Amino acid sequence: MRIVVLDGYTLNPGDLSWNGLNQIGDIAVYERTPVERIIERSIDAEILFTNKTPLTDEEFSKLPHLKYVGVLATGYNVVDVEAAKRRNIVVTNIPTYGTKSVAQMVFALLLELTQHVQHHSDAVRAGEWSECEDFCFWNYPLIELEGKTMGVIGFGRIGQQTADIAQAFGMNIIAYDSYKSDQSHRKNFKWAELTELLAESDVVTLHCPLFPETKGIISLDNLKKMKSSAFLINTSRGPLIVDEDLTEALNTGIIAGAGLDVLSVEPPSKENPLLTAKNCLITPHISWATKEARARLMDIAVENLKEFLSGNPVNVVNK
Ligand code: NAD
Repeated sequence: MRIVVLDGYTLNPGDLSWNGLNQIGDIAVYERTPVERIIERSIDAEILFTNKTPLTDEEFSKLPHLKYVGVLATGYNVVDVEAAKRRNIVVTNIPTYGTKSVAQMVFALLLELTQHVQHHSDAVRAGEWSECEDFCFWNYPLIELEGKTMGVIGFGRIGQQTADIAQAFGMNIIAYDSYKSDQSHRKNFKWAELTELLAESDVVTLHCPLFPETKGIISLDNLKKMKSSAFLINTSRGPLIVDEDLTEALNTGIIAGAGLDVLSVEPPSKENPLLTAKNCLITPHISWATKEARARLMDIAVENLKEFLSGNPVNVVNK
């Protein structure tokens, strides 16, 4: 059985092993695959793995042996899952490998916005503390999270894990989700519609998937509903935000700052206006990439394939 991994480098740049898949079939691992080489590399594949290489109906129409696409990520918007379904190709994702790592990243970004650790450390190294008249100094307002409100858009696994950490900081939680799960165990929690969440939150964090109805959910209109002191965090998917609108909101003080781990186009062009926007921290889509999370992802990818081959597919996203 031919197994092709189209873009294995980010999952396993060399610190993990492909042995689990190797034991199942004849495997070819490509570090990256440009769109124009997908067909040539996958032509005899029954099993295809992709992380961010897009797969559309056009590719499916030219891959006659293909039975299974394993997405090496939680978000599976790179695959046209409906087209796959029409062709009886099973698509799976990896739902849970990165929940804790992504939630941890939310706070890496948020705490940088409230404390500016890197900035202050750089200032100290540049001699500013040594030259200071007082025993301390700070260049930005320092903000305590206790008693502040976090608005969580998309209250699934990562949203709830993020809320757990926020509650440990003493924050109140407002959640917006199309599905309202039982959260009766939480104190200082409420469900709200989007407008109310945006208006009342000190921090808005995005955890809904990228769907047609969530694309551009953070537009200028919605940014204007937020407090001018509020921070926006996005560790979900870049196109949830309209880049130009967020840039304007940051540069004109409509909101106070943003921490982004994802951008609408990745890697971004050097012209992406967010790269030079005020109070905007950007990390290169690393929330998922702790070694622990990637090792779990690899194990689950192998298990997903084994379950599919045994006739009991799990984590199917196009049932
Ligand atoms: P999940 O499926 O557990 O939760 C998503 C939640 O969003 C669900 O509760 C769902 O009901 C809700 N939702 C769906 N449509 C909505 C809508 N229109 N409005 C509001 N809420 C809506 O997924 P998860 O494990 O929490 O992951 C969330 C997202 O995080 C993924 O889709 C993925 O894009 C992103 N992610 C990013 C990284 C990274 O490295 N930056 C890593 C893993 C996941």
